[in-house]
Amino acid sequence: MVSVVIPAYNEEGMIAKTAATISAILTDAAIDYELIFVNDGSRDSTWDRIRKAAGENPAVRGVCFSRNFGKEAAMFAGMYYAKGACCVVIDCDLQHPPEKIVEMYRLWEQGYEIIEAVKTDRGKESFLHTLSARCFYKIISEVTGIDMSRASDFKLLDRKAVNVLLNMKEKNAFFRALSSWIGFRTTQVEFEVRERTVGESKWSTWSLIRYAVSNVTAFSAAPMQIVTVLGILMLCASLVLGVISLYQKFMGTALGGFTTVIIIQLFTGSIIMISLGIIGYYISKIYEEIKGRPRYVVSETCGEEEKKNKGEKKTDEHLEENL
Ligand code: UDP
Ligand code: MG
Repeated sequence: MVSVVIPAYNEEGMIAKTAATISAILTDAAIDYELIFVNDGSRDSTWDRIRKAAGENPAVRGVCFSRNFGKEAAMFAGMYYAKGACCVVIDCDLQHPPEKIVEMYRLWEQGYEIIEAVKTDRGKESFLHTLSARCFYKIISEVTGIDMSRASDFKLLDRKAVNVLLNMKEKNAFFRALSSWIGFRTTQVEFEVRERTVGESKWSTWSLIRYAVSNVTAFSAAPMQIVTVLGILMLCASLVLGVISLYQKFMGTALGGFTTVIIIQLFTGSIIMISLGIIGYYISKIYEEIKGRPRYVVSETCGEEEKKNKGEKKTDEHLEENL
């Protein structure tokens, strides 16, 4: 069985359509499947729509977060609840063509353990968005050593790979990079990003910046090395300036020069502050990880899961397992 994990955040207009489209495709291809919608704390009626879809089709299940925890958390939650021998992660907005699932599934049957869908183009995005995305992928490819310029979250993972990901202790998991980092027999299929038909992209510029910074730092300590490099540069500069000032003092020409003093003061001050900021950021990351909070909190589930767990405290048990 293939488990299709679908993170959904304010996607009320898409749930029914997505469920119907994917089930039709998988039924046609005679592939046994389940759809797991993860409601990531939507503020609209997404959860009601998921419950409705689950009522209509026994293969549909739903997991509801207690608040918005982000797409990464939603994908991990979906994989946690998945029962299939392999797992596909796909966006709810049908920007990832669901027909590809069949192709990916056939490759999995041939023995591949991870099938990544890579973008042939990035779809319609603003110039600034494309530019910053390119910068981000350049940096992240550099620090992870994995080419991520065309990567997406649309992937099929074998049960083995899913279990490895679920057992990772790190809370700040970057699914797209981690699923390549874990290795396994990997292959790729190409797809074209479609345009979103309903709703709008859930990413604001600010959330994209936060996402980029947190993922770069999750994979690399290089920004901390910037501090060292800046320190060395400052040392060289101060050596030169020190020699010059000493020379001027002995020659009796050490007058004026306050501009230099002010500039140096400001420069050192700002570099020290930036450096402390970078170090502080990493410390806060360590703090976050060490607190060991769960990645997400589930408030309720629906579909098959609901019947089975009636009366049981699924959430508590789930929390413990996630610690
Ligand atoms: N999403 C989510 N939680 C969030 C933001 C997004 O689960 O906090 C889901 C969203 O419902 C969609 C997928 O992640 O299924 C991709 O989001 P979106 O289409 O907004 O991103 P884009 O395609 O613009 O990269
Ligand atoms: Mg989208």
